[in-house]
Amino acid sequence: MRHDATPHHTSVSTLYLSAPEAVELIRRKGLAACLAGIAANITEDFLRWESFDKSARVASYSPDGAIELMPIADDATYTFKYVNGHPKNTRLGLSTVMAFGVLADVATGTPQLLSELTLTTALRTAAMSAVAAKALARPGSRVMALIGNGAQSEFQALAFQHLLGITEVRLYDTDPAATAKLQANLRPSGLVVTVCGSTAEAVRGADIVTTVTADKTRATIITADMVAPGMHINAVGGDCPGKTELQAEVLTRGRVFVEYPPQTRIEGEIQQMPADFAVTELWQVLAGREAGRASDAEVTIFDSVGFALEDFSALRFMRDAALELGVGERIQLIPDLANPKDLFGTLRQAGAGEAVVQGQVHRLQAVA
Ligand code: NAD
Repeated sequence: MRHDATPHHTSVSTLYLSAPEAVELIRRKGLAACLAGIAANITEDFLRWESFDKSARVASYSPDGAIELMPIADDATYTFKYVNGHPKNTRLGLSTVMAFGVLADVATGTPQLLSELTLTTALRTAAMSAVAAKALARPGSRVMALIGNGAQSEFQALAFQHLLGITEVRLYDTDPAATAKLQANLRPSGLVVTVCGSTAEAVRGADIVTTVTADKTRATIITADMVAPGMHINAVGGDCPGKTELQAEVLTRGRVFVEYPPQTRIEGEIQQMPADFAVTELWQVLAGREAGRASDAEVTIFDSVGFALEDFSALRFMRDAALELGVGERIQLIPDLANPKDLFGTLRQAGAGEAVVQGQVHRLQAVA
């Protein structure tokens, strides 16, 4: 009996979701349904936190930005995201945040989905913020201050409207054109939109404060004097070393909730605090193992940095939606081999094999 008999030929095709195809998917599903679907997946995955092989993301820092790889896996599925964060990019006409990622089968390592993740990151970050706020913000929260009115901001506003019941947003950005863009984009939403002249003005009277600014600096967008009892702070923009948005004192005004402490201690607002500064893991609150908000007067702070599990949840949402709607295309990322041990055969069949071998011979003769 032959043990190495070549099995029947299996061809690998990978589903590819480009940025225009993701737009098409979101248009057909509806933005609210996408936010709700990703939020549901995030909740489901956070509730099985212990099933995941987790690590802090692998980051490459440079003076103007960061490039990060974010891997995670359970027994069946592996995902990773490539993402950057370059706050000065918009001056060059480029996005601050650009991303793509892969979902693969753990059993064989076969890549099943290659997807854009720039739009998907905005969706998943907003969905994550809403999941956290649902567990932490005062029930009945209606007014949200939104500081930083760039690429992520519409997604944050709409996630809080659809998933939390926010009815009014109070906007501020150092760039008035960004605020005007956000205001125009939110016009059809039905949200009451108030443009404010400063962060302090926007924050006054808000139940929830979302900071989603981009600046690679130790910023103090929110200072302790702006924090009112009962406020929930959703701090999204501070997400790498040397890049924060909250004055350190704000973090001592309430309880701080985080995604994955080993990563947040490096990248989050709490990088400003001692290594043993007390935080609560959000998954523990969702699972009912730790208390969320204790009273209407307590201040809660979600120190968001973005964790690989959220992209895992978002990638499986995009895959399922793409398959359901027939959006995306099949690409041949992996060579199609009649015999998986004969990778060279793909070159041989194309006539390229001979050229390569002969080329090597010529070069070897030249060296001799
Ligand atoms: P963007 O560049 O499109 O927009 C950022 C906006 O912040 C700009 O309009 C800018 O004018 C404004 N801004 C800068 N400094 C400000 C200040 N002091 N006060 C008020 N506004 C100010 O960027 P984006 O794609 O919207 O991303 C925003 C931030 O969120 C980035 O820092 C990004 O790294 C971060 N982010 C975090 C997560 C996460 O999961 N936590 C996910 C995605 C993006």
